[in-house]
Amino acid sequence: MRDTDLYAQILGVESPWRVTEVELRLSSGEVEVRVEHGASGALACPECGSAAKRYDTRLRRWRHLPTCQYRTVLAAEVPRVRCPQHGVKTLSVPWSEPGSGFTALFEALVIDWLREASILAVARLLGLTWDEVDGVLQRAVRRGLERRQLKVVRRLGVDETSFQKRHEYVTVVADLEGGVVQHVADGRGKEALAAYFETFAEEELAQVETVAMDMWGPYIAATLAALPDAESKIAFDKFHVAMHLGNAVDRVRREESQVLQERGDETLKGTRHWWLYHPDRLPKKAAARFDQLVRKALKTSRAWMLKELAMEMWEQPDREDARRIFQAWYSWAIRSRLQPIKRVARMIKRHLEGILNAIVAAVTNARLEGINTVIQGLKRSARGFRSRPRFRNAILFHLGGLDLYPAAVFHSNS
Ligand SMILES: [Zn+2]
Repeated sequence: MRDTDLYAQILGVESPWRVTEVELRLSSGEVEVRVEHGASGALACPECGSAAKRYDTRLRRWRHLPTCQYRTVLAAEVPRVRCPQHGVKTLSVPWSEPGSGFTALFEALVIDWLREASILAVARLLGLTWDEVDGVLQRAVRRGLERRQLKVVRRLGVDETSFQKRHEYVTVVADLEGGVVQHVADGRGKEALAAYFETFAEEELAQVETVAMDMWGPYIAATLAALPDAESKIAFDKFHVAMHLGNAVDRVRREESQVLQERGDETLKGTRHWWLYHPDRLPKKAAARFDQLVRKALKTSRAWMLKELAMEMWEQPDREDARRIFQAWYSWAIRSRLQPIKRVARMIKRHLEGILNAIVAAVTNARLEGINTVIQGLKRSARGFRSRPRFRNAILFHLGGLDLYPAAVFHSNS
């Protein structure tokens, strides 16, 4: 087989295009494959498809997959045509998408690598610039979003995730069953979530059964405004309730520890993380000390026990059982003289129906937590994102369940 035929087959170059020359440049470690457009007469305008005359040609080059470690470049004189209606237009080529300096197969390789490694690592690995790799990522997401037909899902989860600095957030909406991010919006206001609901028709929105979220006013307001019978669908998940209670325990501990230390009592010193985790997860040595600590007449132990007791609500299979547990718990919590706990107790009371919704529907946001972990990992490996659109696209690239590959890949022979 001639090398030109071999490359025609590897590259998926089909008539009217043909491979005319393969040049191996040993000194620069590069293979250049020259491709030519054979047809001289019948050319068509890429915009409207009507017959158009050849105007001139332009030399263009595309980086392709390496051939046995050799950097491989496709080069072609690409005809431009003059269409009476659209003017002078460059013909599109079957091996690459317009505007890309890479063949579709090479872009697919970059996309595969980007799933595994950071932009910087992929750039280094494939000998590309950061901007080139970023360009592939941005194009991939744009392509994926254009192809996507967003369908309404039964179980939604919405949460904020921090962007760059403290107090800067984006809102992430995910399909809790598929674990796919459907929507990323700036900030954590009502609009951020409302914009998602606005993409659907009323009949579609009626199919949503659950929206899991934190007890966060703007998300509640957006859901109440968009969904019919939203009161029965908003679900405040266990994770967020536990988080608020955990923060309250931590606040109680901080205050008490300070008071104790002023008296020279170091009982609580160095115990911060013990109170934050489930006792089963403590190392053995710490567990023994923690066990003693819990039995002491400390405000912190009382706060901690209240938190653990509240968690029993989630053990109840029945709405009314869970409600009874809450009522007993609430009367104790509100008399506890622990301000941070009382504050969360009132918050839980205000949101009780939504918490019971979550318990009864067995809504867990394990999926959303997993998504959040991946997002924070992306932030770390990117060492921060320069802009929110970049952050958004990185989330959609990795978690959006999008069809990211260039279309030309599927027409190729290889
Ligand atoms: Zn035209």
